[in-house]
Formats: sequence, C-alpha cells, structure tokens
Amino acid sequence: MSLICKKFIFITVFFIMLPAILSPVAYSSIPPGFEEFQENVKKQARKYPDIFFLQGPGSRKKIALTFDDGPDAVYTPAVLDILKKYQVPATFFLIGKNVSRYPEITSRIVSEGHTVGNHSWSHPDFRELSFSEILEQEILPTYRIIKKIAGQEHLLLRPPYGAIADETIELLGQEDWKIINWSLDTFDWYENYNEPQTILDRVLDNIHPEAIILMHSGGGNRDNTLKALPLIIEALQAKGYSFTTVNKLLF
Ligand code: ZN
Repeated sequence: MSLICKKFIFITVFFIMLPAILSPVAYSSIPPGFEEFQENVKKQARKYPDIFFLQGPGSRKKIALTFDDGPDAVYTPAVLDILKKYQVPATFFLIGKNVSRYPEITSRIVSEGHTVGNHSWSHPDFRELSFSEILEQEILPTYRIIKKIAGQEHLLLRPPYGAIADETIELLGQEDWKIINWSLDTFDWYENYNEPQTILDRVLDNIHPEAIILMHSGGGNRDNTLKALPLIIEALQAKGYSFTTVNKLLF
C-alpha cells in the first residue's frame, strides 16, 4: 500500500470518527436504542392524545416525579423519607407482586399523599403478551391489590419498559385506562452512566414545564437515585418549579 493511500485511509477514518472524538459524553450517555424508542413513543402520544401521555398539556412550572418498580424494603422507604423532608408529592408506579410482598410500604406511600399507579404484576414486556394476558394476568390483579391495600383505584398504567403496542393502547383506552410514560428519563437505571451529578445534569439539561420525570424506587441498586433525588428537588425548586402528582398534572 502506498503512503498516499495510507494517508487517505487515516484521514477518512479520522473524519468519520470526528463526532465521537468531539463529543464522547453524548456517545456514552445514551443507552443503545434510546432514540428509536423515543421516536416511537412520541408517535404514540400524537396518535392517542387522550390515552397515551408523555407530559402535561400546558406550560405551568409543574413537574411530576415518578418512581417505578417498587415497593421494596430499602429504596422505596428511603425515597419516601426524602420526599417527606421536602414535602414533595410524587407518583409511584408499583409492581403488583411487590405490593403483595410489602403491603405496609404501599400503605405508607398513599398515607403520605402520593399517587399509586399500575406497573403490571410481574414486569413482562407487554409486546410479547396477548391483550387478555396483559389485562387478566398483569393489570387487573395489580389494580385489585392496590385498591385493597391502599384504597386507590386510579386507572393509571405505566407499561414495563414504557413499551406497548398501538393495538393494546387502543384496547386499554376503551377500558378507560390512561397510559403514562415520561418526557424526561433520568437514566438512573443505566449503570454505565448514572452518577448522581450526571443524573442531575441530565435533568437540568432537559427540564421543561409540565415534565414527567422517570426514576426508580426498586428493582435494583438505586443508591445513585437516592443521592440524586435531593439535588434534583433543590435545583428545580431554585428554578421556580413545584411538584405534583401525575393525575393532578394531567387531569
Ligand atoms: Zn419498570
């Protein structure tokens, strides 16, 4: 291979790699498949504006913090302690089988003024189940146990992974369910890139009026969520935002 040819290859590769060289943060901070996922849910929100929600309808400086995958014995109580300290209401999308395991923590969530929504019984990918399996095995048992233990019967569903087929959205809409995804993913679940300061920066870079923010209060190690949460609350309050529950934000 001639020297000119080698030079040409080097220069070509250099320019192809240039965006990655210049912005290593952007390249390492977004989980694989995220942009495709985001495009899809935006389409669904446009297609089903009365059933499928990513954020509030207006421009009030109100924010709904949401916590998925609880309750558990460690992180959910710790999140509740932080919310109590700051007197911030939030929405917890709970997994039915965890509710049956931790009924006292479920009761505590409600007694401290938070909203409880439905995050399925066992956290499957709804796109791999039939509608009757989704409804009979995942949504209704969770609805019933939340009603029994906590006395709340909101028809608020967050599908596991935020993933749900259009047809399922339509059928759930006919049953008066509202599907609540989010407009701001903290990526607190993304172990490669979830240091507390990183989570805070992501929130501050992407915050907007009537945002629904995704975080987690169970389902794994949530130490960084606990460290980031007070930083997020204080930073958003300093910017003039206040907090509300999903149902109050949307309806
Ligand atoms: Zn989840």
